[in-house]
Amino acid sequence: MEAVMLVRYAEIHLKGLNRPYFERSLMKRISLALRPLPVKVVREQGRVFVFGIPQEHMGEATEKLTRVFGIHSVSPALAVEKDWEQIVAAAKSLVARRMTGCEQASFKVIARRADKRFAMRSQDICRVLGGLLLESFPALRVDVHQPDFYVGVEIRQEQAFIFADEILGAGGMPVGTNGHAMLLISGGIDSPVAGHMIAKRGVKISAVHFYSYPYTSERAREKVVDLTRILASYAGEVGLYLVPFTEIQLAIYEKCPKSETTVLMRRLMMKISERIALSCGAQALVTGESIGQVASQTIESLTATNDSVDLPVFRPLIGFDKEEIVTRAKAMGSFDTSILPFEDCCTVFVPQHPVTRPKLEDIRQSEARVDFSQMIETAIANTEFLLVE
Ligand code: ATP
Ligand code: MG
Repeated sequence: MEAVMLVRYAEIHLKGLNRPYFERSLMKRISLALRPLPVKVVREQGRVFVFGIPQEHMGEATEKLTRVFGIHSVSPALAVEKDWEQIVAAAKSLVARRMTGCEQASFKVIARRADKRFAMRSQDICRVLGGLLLESFPALRVDVHQPDFYVGVEIRQEQAFIFADEILGAGGMPVGTNGHAMLLISGGIDSPVAGHMIAKRGVKISAVHFYSYPYTSERAREKVVDLTRILASYAGEVGLYLVPFTEIQLAIYEKCPKSETTVLMRRLMMKISERIALSCGAQALVTGESIGQVASQTIESLTATNDSVDLPVFRPLIGFDKEEIVTRAKAMGSFDTSILPFEDCCTVFVPQHPVTRPKLEDIRQSEARVDFSQMIETAIANTEFLLVE
């Protein structure tokens, strides 16, 4: 009897001829997520099996796998030979574990016979095994409609797999199967959630953060690194670019109309982000903006922001209320870090009366008053890179 993790995958089954590619990517993501455990990841007919997880690491491994995009659900399972006695013994030991501390529980057996050479048909496996479990565990009863748990038996080519738990995974597609995007990450609630949503669709994420030392502190920067680490626990490693933004921000503040500072700042952030994106192969920009959340997120302001770059800009939160974003931030585990009270460079220079409906021509003219080109080069030259795992 060998402990193994059975992994069911999400949308990959839709992928037709590309399926082997998606499966290989998922297997790679699983190995990376479980590092440094020396696991063996194999696939067989629509399932992935992870062998070699020591029993004492099963809980932690389960937790890590529920963050791997592309996984529909996982079941800690036992692998045995395709021998009826062994199958029954494995089922009993799993049910015994499942029943500890339970006075009563209902169950149902679900069997799949992928290897048709196996002597018993699926429905016979369910009936006979169900009867044996009822005999061994008086506190059990059968409920075929809404059981408290089900005992799964999968008879496959090499072995049989038995499990009594199914834990839902994150869904989505394996990171790296759908290109590469650059997330503009602030220290706020929204941008980590935006990054999580795009990564879930299989997109590799890099991130860029603008800081304005000494107006923003070392702690504010640390907070962004921490948020990136939380994002990376789902998205795999995330390359984080830290861009010094003080010179540009002061120039905007001193030389351009006060009411336009936020929109102009956004445009310069986008331009620099695009340059960094192109240099590292990212094909799109991602922000945490949502329509009307603040003055810089009206349709007119977003239009003025988009005008500064050629790359597509993805805003997965565009139609979300703040409350919906907060719910997602809590679910992904970034919320508590996001609300730590360290200043962001946008909040330091926020104008008292920002334009809410900027005219594109006015914004372009204001920007043209200052020659930012050298400042942009300097900011890029002084950008720091951190690989966050
Ligand atoms: P949060 O800060 O995550 O998103 P917010 O409501 O505070 O959301 P803004 O400050 O208006 O939003 O910023 C809008 C978006 O611009 C952010 O979601 C983020 O993508 C980007 N952004 C803002 N500040 C920075 C920064 N200092 N560095 C990188 N990106 C930033
Ligand atoms: Mg913010």
